[in-house]
Amino acid sequence: MKVRTRVAPSPTGDPHVATAYVAMINACFARASGGDGRFILRIEDTDRTRSTQASEEAILASLDWLGLAWDEGPDVGGPHGPYRQSERSAVYAEHAARLLRDGHAFACFCSAERLEEMRVAQRAAHEPPHYDGHCLTLTHQAIQENERAGVPCVLRLKVPRDGVCVFEDVLRGRIEIEWKTVDMQVLMKSDGFPTYHLANVVDDHLMEVTHVIRGEEWISSTPKHLLLYDYFGWSGDTPTFCHLPLLRNPDKSKLSKRKNPTSILYYRARGFLPEALLHFLGTLVDGRNDEALLECSATSELLERMCSHFDLTRISLGGPVFDLEKLTWLNGQHLRRHHASEMLAILEAWGYAWPPAIAAEHRERIARLAMDRIRTLDEFGPLVAFFAERPDLSKADLELSKLPPAAAGEALALALRALAEIADALWREAEIGNVLKAAVAAHEWPFAQGLRFRDAVRVYYVAVTGSPTSLPLFDAMEILGKGESLRRLETALEKLH
Ligand code: GLU
Repeated sequence: MKVRTRVAPSPTGDPHVATAYVAMINACFARASGGDGRFILRIEDTDRTRSTQASEEAILASLDWLGLAWDEGPDVGGPHGPYRQSERSAVYAEHAARLLRDGHAFACFCSAERLEEMRVAQRAAHEPPHYDGHCLTLTHQAIQENERAGVPCVLRLKVPRDGVCVFEDVLRGRIEIEWKTVDMQVLMKSDGFPTYHLANVVDDHLMEVTHVIRGEEWISSTPKHLLLYDYFGWSGDTPTFCHLPLLRNPDKSKLSKRKNPTSILYYRARGFLPEALLHFLGTLVDGRNDEALLECSATSELLERMCSHFDLTRISLGGPVFDLEKLTWLNGQHLRRHHASEMLAILEAWGYAWPPAIAAEHRERIARLAMDRIRTLDEFGPLVAFFAERPDLSKADLELSKLPPAAAGEALALALRALAEIADALWREAEIGNVLKAAVAAHEWPFAQGLRFRDAVRVYYVAVTGSPTSLPLFDAMEILGKGESLRRLETALEKLH
């Protein structure tokens, strides 16, 4: 069978990581099924009040950034287009008319007030909200009168009241839902636009989708969809359903903006690499971290490897946890795989602008020094800022070195004397380190134990970089140059007085 899958986002907000997760699984499943598998991107913009072009563009750009290339879609076209539902109104109108003609749907003229009263009464009776079937029994004459009077109307699905809807789900097996719990869904709104349910089923059928792989929040809608397949006479072509577990916050609640950033734009802006985010989403499939994915620097390569051992049935239903800590760690791992020269390109592509005070000749080396210490690209700028600007130190900053002021002062004075002896031509990282170590070791400290080098070095760190932990100090001093390094040590010494 030619496998055809799709992801069908609604462009009503920022591109969500869950959309990428669903898209990735659909892309992998189509690819893993053999050379003729196809993955489709369809834009479900039937909600005219909430859909925006900016959101659609951001969704396309984000999925593209993650390397989740689609074979058919609104931008690349394909044999079953258009792939944007707002351009398919005639198709839905025709199908809606067919349902009405065949008695599978009915016109509903209920006003918003009546529906609200109905809801209030249901709530009071502790019933789940549902349409009470009021317009099901309208006479032909009443319908015509309403139409003539221009009463706004929607089209609703007729739903059996008795029995059970049974269907198979790839991950969950047999699912049974009683028909009496299924609402008489609106299929066409009074604005002439279809609802999700009608458009989604019609499109899945016309686009020859073989596998509907989507979030578990759609399980309760599946009976309505199956009913539509039946009413249209398409039961023989019903797709296979696979409902994916929802992504969760570390506390197991449903992934939400309040607890975890959910927009792909956020991750891009913070300097997460697309291959790291894709790799992370891959670990959510079956809870395993395929270490070999670290070797893939291009998302296309990564996806290929993921497809090579992809198995839809291995998706664990436990509720994959979107653990930001783990994603951040993984991002750091991917960053470190790059060569420093690639890092320069990555930083630039991400939008990092070097302060002009950091000379071009030093940049690759600085990138190399910083790569091991950052986990996201947005940590780079603050970490290397001290190369461009002298740290604005206060006495409190110097206390960060945890040395008593007298010892800190003595350590600084000692460094100044020792380093001044290094000839300009020998101002190199190794020499700086050796000279400082020897000076601290040889010094007669006025207290019993002397001062260990690793304690003294903290005050040098603070003096030169502004922080007790930063990039390797002697390299930083070499890059800054002798004059600037000594000036910073001197300034720190003055601050102590
Ligand atoms: N437009 C729906 C969504 O935004 C698609 C659901 C489905 O895949 O059927 O999630």
